[in-house]
This record gives sequence, C-alpha cells and structure tokens, in this order.
Amino acid sequence: MKILVTGGAGFIGSAVVRHIINNTQDRVINVDKLTYAGNLESLASVDKNERYVFEQVDICDRVELDRVFAQHQPDAVMHLAAESHVDRSITGPSDFIQTNIVGTYTLLEATRAYWNELSAEAKKDFRFHHISTDEVYGDLPHPDEAASETELPLFTETTSYAPSSPYSASKASSDHLVRAWLRTYGLPTIVTNCSNNYGPYHFPEKLIPLVILNALEGKSLPIYGKGDQIRDWLYVEDHARALYKVVTTGKVGETYNIGGHNEKQNLEVVKTICSILDVLVPKETSYAKQITYVTDRPGHDRRYAIDSTKMSQELNWQPEETFETGLRKTVEWYLANQEWCQHVQDGTYQRERLGI
Ligand code: NAD
Repeated sequence: MKILVTGGAGFIGSAVVRHIINNTQDRVINVDKLTYAGNLESLASVDKNERYVFEQVDICDRVELDRVFAQHQPDAVMHLAAESHVDRSITGPSDFIQTNIVGTYTLLEATRAYWNELSAEAKKDFRFHHISTDEVYGDLPHPDEAASETELPLFTETTSYAPSSPYSASKASSDHLVRAWLRTYGLPTIVTNCSNNYGPYHFPEKLIPLVILNALEGKSLPIYGKGDQIRDWLYVEDHARALYKVVTTGKVGETYNIGGHNEKQNLEVVKTICSILDVLVPKETSYAKQITYVTDRPGHDRRYAIDSTKMSQELNWQPEETFETGLRKTVEWYLANQEWCQHVQDGTYQRERLGI
C-alpha cells in the first residue's frame, strides 16, 4: 500500500510512520506543515528509506494537496495533522478552527476529487482514516462523585459528543465532517477516538515530558488544581499498531475507540515519574519535593476512560505495554535524548504556562 499520512512529523504521526516503515512493506507519503509541533528529527531513523517521502504541505492548501495526490497516488489516507494542545486552544483557538476544521474539510475534498477518478476496484479498496480523540465525548463521572464502581461508565463508540474545550470542539467538528463525507458522498471513511498517549518524541508542553524535563532541571512540577483529573494512558507505539490495524482491516463506516485500560490521576502520574527518576538519577531529596499546585485549567474535564472492547473483539488488538513498563521506557528515552528535547524547544517554547 501507499499510505498518505498527515501530521507524520508530530508525536503520534511519527510513531505511525516509524511503525509502517519498520514493520511492513508499505510506502509512506508524510504530509506535514511543520508547525512548532512537527519535527523531522523524530523521523531520523526512517527518513533514508526509499519507501518514505516527505512533503511539506499545509492541509488547508487545496492546490498543493491536489498536486500531492496526483503525484503519489495513495491507496489510503491516515489523517493525524492537527493542533493538539488544549492549553494552546484556550489561549488562541484560531489555529485549531483553521487546521482541525477547515484543514480536515480541505483534505476531505481533495481526497474525494482524487477518489472519484479511481477505478471501481481501487475506489472500493481506498480508505480515509480519521484519527481523533476521546475528548470529543466530554468528561465522565469521577470516583469522587460516584457512589459505587458500577456508576463509573466508560466511553463507547456510541457515547454522545459533548466537547468542552476549543480543541475538543474542533476535533468533534472534524469527526462530523468525516461522517458526512461517508454518508453523502460514499467516501470510504473510518474514525478512531483514542485516549491520552505518552511515550518517546512527545513535545514537552504535554504533562509527562514536561514533568520529566522540569524535574531534571530542578524546576517546579506544576499540578493543575488538585491533580485528581483522571486520564486513560496509552503507550504511543501501541496506538500506532492499533491505527495500522484499523486502516488495513477495519470496516468502512465504523468508529473504533482505542484506550490503554490505565486510568490514573494526574498527581499519581507525576509521583510515579518522580519515583522512577529517584532510582535512575538519584539526588539528595526526592523529585516529588518539586511538585507545586497551580490554578486549574478553565473547563478542565475531570475523567476520561475508554472501553476498547470493539478493538479487541473485532480487530484482535490489545495494548502490549502496561503503564509501569511504558512509563519507565519513556523516562529512559528522555534521559537518553536530551538533544532532541533541546532542538524541538529552541526558539519556540520554554515550558511556560499556557491557557490560564
Ligand atoms: P502533535 O501536535 O504532536 O502533531 C501534529 C502534527 O500535525 C505536527 O507534525 C504538525 O506540524 C502537523 N500539522 C499541524 N497543522 C498542520 C497543517 N495545517 N497542515 C499540515 N500539518 C499540520 O499531535 P499528536 O499528539 O501527534 O496528535 C496527532 C493526532 O492524534 C491529532 O489529530 C490529535 O487530535 C489525535 N490524538 C492525540 C492524542 C494525544 O494524546 N496526543 C490522543 C488522541 C488523539
């Protein structure tokens, strides 16, 4: 297959590209604008492979997208390009509306024009896989509010949409566009909604890399509110495997929820990182002493948790990493890749607080 991956220089997109090049015979066309979040260094291990090609293109640019489709003739699109940081969407929603909504619309239209010209067989086999988030569902009851475990539901593929932030509202909007292009034009689409990812090559504005780097530099480890917000953590390479399974064996028109069965409070995540660092890079006092409590994010969702039964029963996918093994690997990766961390932050971001 020739797979056009958008956002392939980002955190999850680069894991998808590495997975495809390293584990399959497929070709990848990586279409990425290279915003602050896109870094070609994340692809250094695969970018010399003759099955990989990079196109620096904005998904809002229809003329360039048409050229890319005509030139590379893909069999599938995996659409990951997005603005992805909730705090940034609070500070400035405009780029989120532009890339996540207008960009997805533009990509759908470019794909449809290309797909319309394919042979009947190629049309049937073509896939447009839209990668989305569990945040479109809003938040779930928190154990604080629930009387018993049975009152703690999970997000399923039929949970109603109720996004809370400009980020999640823009992603919800893009999911709706993708479904409309299936229903109205017959474009063979699939949607996946995934929980919080973590792992190597994660831009240091997100909780886990930010805490690792701040801890090592002796800086404070900011906890939003009480730190009791719950996320369901999935190791990024498990997500990349899941996405490849979906684009190659998933059913057109379906939605698949992808999660890690790892519900953790943010404070617990931060304390676990501190205890791993206490062992790997010991100092006189524990890194946990650097924890500080800061004002909560406006509209902060309290709990996300995914029911990924459909992924395991229909596509035979399970996460391979536990939170303990994945987090340890992640901390070790950041310790060994300080240069990457320096390069991606240079001139763009110094781990300052956003979205207050
Ligand atoms: P990221 O911010 O790390 O990477 C986004 C990539 O998209 C970057 O390489 C950036 O340069 C590129 N991009 C941004 N705007 C573009 C544009 N207009 N045209 C072309 N390229 C553009 O994001 P991520 O964490 O890798 O997330 C990838 C996708 O997965 C997103 O759609 C996100 O909503 C979804 N998702 C993320 C998570 C998570 O925990 N990170 C969880 C579930 C779903």
